[in-house]
Amino acid sequence: MKVTYNAAAKINLMLDILARLDNGYHSLFMLMQSVDLYDTVSVEETDDGKITITCDVEGVPCDRKNIAWKAADAFFKSTGLKNKGIKIDIQKRIPFAAGMAGGSADGAAVIAALNDIYETKLSVNELCKIGVKVGADVPFCLTGGTCLAQNIGEILSPLPALDDCWIVLAKPDRGVSTKDAYDAFDTAANVRHLDTCGMLYAASQGDLYGICKRTKNVFEQLIEVPERVPIKSVMNRYGALAACMSGSGPTVYGIFDDESKAIAAAESLRSVVRNIFITRPATSGLTKIN
Ligand code: ATP
Repeated sequence: MKVTYNAAAKINLMLDILARLDNGYHSLFMLMQSVDLYDTVSVEETDDGKITITCDVEGVPCDRKNIAWKAADAFFKSTGLKNKGIKIDIQKRIPFAAGMAGGSADGAAVIAALNDIYETKLSVNELCKIGVKVGADVPFCLTGGTCLAQNIGEILSPLPALDDCWIVLAKPDRGVSTKDAYDAFDTAANVRHLDTCGMLYAASQGDLYGICKRTKNVFEQLIEVPERVPIKSVMNRYGALAACMSGSGPTVYGIFDDESKAIAAAESLRSVVRNIFITRPATSGLTKIN
């Protein structure tokens, strides 16, 4: 049996760090949004008892370091099922190490596919409990849409779907270390926290303009991300309702209520960065395609 899912990228419409927890993790307030940029993940049964991974993009590990591998391993350990052998193929479109949860999306797809193949009939909640063992963004990738994510990112509250709009993603080539970004929070003398209450109210009302007025990422105060300032200035010049970094970067997105403005911004950005995508909000993290 072979099962294939499209697994969506995410952006953070808001990301604030509320505190460092005793276990070293951080308590977060994140407004998460799936976008229609997908990796395609196929999982097929084999009979060799192994987890094998292929991926069409160089630089993504195809061994047990791959989040998809860890997700499969976590599925078998949590369910107690014996792995008879599976082959995972990842067609990557979500840039990796970009702040768009590409690896977590692949992991989510593998967990959902194994639930289908092994007919375990686990609920989304149960799948999320397996997912969080692999990574804090995996539960959101299993559900997707528009959600408030709290604690380390695994406490999810669904919110009304974002009004249709155009979201331009621009990913600079040079990456950012997520660990360095959190270290910068831990050692920062002063952090200006964000309007989380106002954002939650706007999001609960499905108010795109209210959301965009409050869109912010605390990491922008803490880390230097190459090309962030010029990208944001192009987005703003072309009439973005909001321009902000996603996750710990380096991807910067702009939200537009007019397709022609989004296209013009994307065209202009081509002289600044190579990786540009024009996306729309997606209402779920995973879509089964066969
Ligand atoms: P997040 O927004 O959750 O911080 P990200 O977009 O910054 O995620 P990923 O694309 O998930 O980062 O990848 C981070 C690192 O994990 C990469 O540098 C890569 O080496 C490794 N990795 C492991 N598995 C995968 C995968 N399936 N896809 C992409 N990267 C993976």
